[in-house]
Amino acid sequence: METSKKYLLLINGEHTESVGDDWFNTYNPATGEIIGEVAKANRTDVDNAVAAARAALEGKWGRTPAAKRSRILNKIAGILRKRFDELCELEVINSGKSLANAQGQVMQAVEDFELYAAAALAHEGKTKPVPNGFLNYTTKEPVGVCAQIVPWNYPFMMAAWKLAPALAAGCTIVLKPASLTPVTALVLADICEEAGVPPGVVNVITGSGADVGAYLVEHPGVDKVAFTGETTTGKDIMARASQTLKRVTLELGGKSPNIVFSDADFDAAIDGALFGIYYNTGQSCEARSRLIVQEDIYEEFIQAFTEKTKKLVMGDPLDKETHIGAIISENQVEVIDGYVQSAVREGARIVYGGARPQGDAYRHGHWYLPTVIADVSNDMKVAQEEIFGPVVVISKFKDEKEAVQLANDTVYGLAASLWTNHFARAHRVAGKLKAGIVMINNPFSAFPGLPFGGYKQSGFGRELAMESLDLYSETKSVLAYIGGKPLNPFGV
Ligand code: NAD
Repeated sequence: METSKKYLLLINGEHTESVGDDWFNTYNPATGEIIGEVAKANRTDVDNAVAAARAALEGKWGRTPAAKRSRILNKIAGILRKRFDELCELEVINSGKSLANAQGQVMQAVEDFELYAAAALAHEGKTKPVPNGFLNYTTKEPVGVCAQIVPWNYPFMMAAWKLAPALAAGCTIVLKPASLTPVTALVLADICEEAGVPPGVVNVITGSGADVGAYLVEHPGVDKVAFTGETTTGKDIMARASQTLKRVTLELGGKSPNIVFSDADFDAAIDGALFGIYYNTGQSCEARSRLIVQEDIYEEFIQAFTEKTKKLVMGDPLDKETHIGAIISENQVEVIDGYVQSAVREGARIVYGGARPQGDAYRHGHWYLPTVIADVSNDMKVAQEEIFGPVVVISKFKDEKEAVQLANDTVYGLAASLWTNHFARAHRVAGKLKAGIVMINNPFSAFPGLPFGGYKQSGFGRELAMESLDLYSETKSVLAYIGGKPLNPFGV
């Protein structure tokens, strides 16, 4: 596969250089090799992309019936299936994630387009009971031009999570991928056009988040901002978007707990906890990065978890046996290591890892060992802040009440797992956890159709579900008078 190439902006159906003719490199995080030069958009490019999206909304796309939008979404899914292997490989090369991870995520993107193809047809207004002589109905209209800003940890899947519902609802889009991982979002936009999405409906600008991202969020031509990324960025975006009261949905960070009761299936809890933290090399918003274990199995659990951690294969992300891929950048490796060192200073116990791996396989690119930190108390930095790497912190609890208290003692509220064979306890605790996604006796957080999103500072709005279409729509209420006698409310 040819990877060393130029990646251009997509504006109004045209692949174009930035008006400033600026460029930045994009890399393979596992090797450090440059895989391409990417056009660096400036504010004029953003203006052009927003204008193209507005014109498309007011043009043909705005009149395209839901049935046709649905067919196009299915066609996108069909092309993704055909190009599956190539897309997975490209995602691995630009993100450093393992091939197995990329395969799951690209397949989820396929299913996402299929879900929203169906949802486009099922998205209906209602009629409401009103006094005699009146008729009311509601209609769903596209919210308008959407700025969609996505992060580097799931570059392709997050772009799909954003584009599919927006297209289903009839919106037009300016998509901004993360600067570190722009490649597959650009390919996805091309596939949308190949499937029949008209020019100007999906536009992609690549460049600096702080510059063109922020400008896009403030842009008066944008009606809605859908953002996935860090909580601090989300706060900045919400403040900027408030100036023109844009609709906002935010999918932000997490520090998700994984509670293991001593009555749980021990082996299943170990395997689920491994997946919960090490999936996507821990670079996951919903990573179960806080392992909270009941005191009577605490040491035994740490030992078994660590033994299995040692068995995980880290290395060439394109090798299908690899479990743990690369870290996205050297900067992120330093962030991770900084957190591990803070845990040491605060008195936690490093049970395994806590360093960069040694050896030829890791000489290039960015790597960090899967890391197990025990005896962590909730006031430590590593228990409260998102590390975004393959690092799990472990603490113990006495009883159900303390488990819930520890789990909820965070500003975040994205996901939570719990492991128990006590039926009533499982649902009692699930009800008390302040998280948008709760998993009982399994580690899987996202299937197409299930609402995905957070409580508290993990953001608001839900993606991946039928109800997400409402977040890309305005509801219009139409009240008609159909009585036989003319109305004269003032009676004059
Ligand atoms: P980030 O916030 O640094 O960047 C995300 C995107 O926002 C990028 O495209 C970036 O260029 C852009 N951006 C940066 N500053 C901006 C600004 N001021 N205005 C507009 N756009 C701006 O996040 P990241 O480091 O790319 O991704 C990791 C974060 O994403 C983690 O916190 C993770 O938890 C979160 N995340 C959340 C979910 C979820 O569904 N809740 C999913 C994946 C990732």
